[in-house]
Amino acid sequence: MKIIRNIISVSFSLILLLSLINLSTIYSQQPQFSSNKELKIYILTDLEGVSGVVTFQNHSYSTGKYYEQSKILLTKEINAAVEGLLEEGVSEIRVLDGHGSGGVNIDYIHPEARVILGRYPGGLFTLDSSFDALVIIGQHAMSNAPNGNLAHSFSSRTINNIWLNGKLIGETGAMVLYASHFNVPTIFLSGDDVACNEIKEIIPNIETAAVKKGLGLNVALNLSPEKAGEKIKEGIKRAVRKIDKMKLYKVDPPYEVVIEYKNPESAERKAKSRGWNRIDSMKCVFKTDDYLSIRW
Ligand SMILES: [Zn+2]
Repeated sequence: MKIIRNIISVSFSLILLLSLINLSTIYSQQPQFSSNKELKIYILTDLEGVSGVVTFQNHSYSTGKYYEQSKILLTKEINAAVEGLLEEGVSEIRVLDGHGSGGVNIDYIHPEARVILGRYPGGLFTLDSSFDALVIIGQHAMSNAPNGNLAHSFSSRTINNIWLNGKLIGETGAMVLYASHFNVPTIFLSGDDVACNEIKEIIPNIETAAVKKGLGLNVALNLSPEKAGEKIKEGIKRAVRKIDKMKLYKVDPPYEVVIEYKNPESAERKAKSRGWNRIDSMKCVFKTDDYLSIRW
């Protein structure tokens, strides 16, 4: 009887030990990311900050002879970002094609990315407070930034300068504030060195990857697509690891937006949009307390 009891007790301990080993294997298979919350990341993309995309005429306008190649180059940079995010345990990745005439080539996009293509009302379409962070890929500097390759603010053909509450602002600042409105921090940007420096002015501890050095409006010193991808992947991994340390960049309302156009016709047209008033032949102003109502 005693022998039987011993056998039962030994087998019970063995079962307990085996199930513990089993549990520990399951836990070691979890992603390395320490938080138990699943991360959801929004990627805003543009074409003019991509390595190898250097002129408006040939690369970023839809009529350019290298336009299709430019889209492939951006898509490769997005894929490098997606790879980095996945390696850090990110579970959901949404990409917005933010280039007016389209910048993403869907044929080459990473299978784990979901991409918004088409025409949308503006801003970071479908971004809301359910996202954990904003990432910006392919960004250029604001218009008139010295040496900024393809530097412009929203419209390279018509807009000269934009001010928000008296301070010059470009697409980067405008989109960072849009995300901040939903309490979503911006954690990473890739583009030329001028665009990287521009975002560091407002978010000093942000991670960036300069994939080209701006040498002028239509000229840059570029990394190879492979090297650019490596740099983006490394930078984005660093960014996700310090996501909890990222602060929101905010500007308090009321908002006063002044746009200075390159020609009076554009100013005249803008003055006909709801809420916009003309200040002089080239400038229009828009005042609001609601950041999301700004149409740049
Ligand atoms: Zn842009």
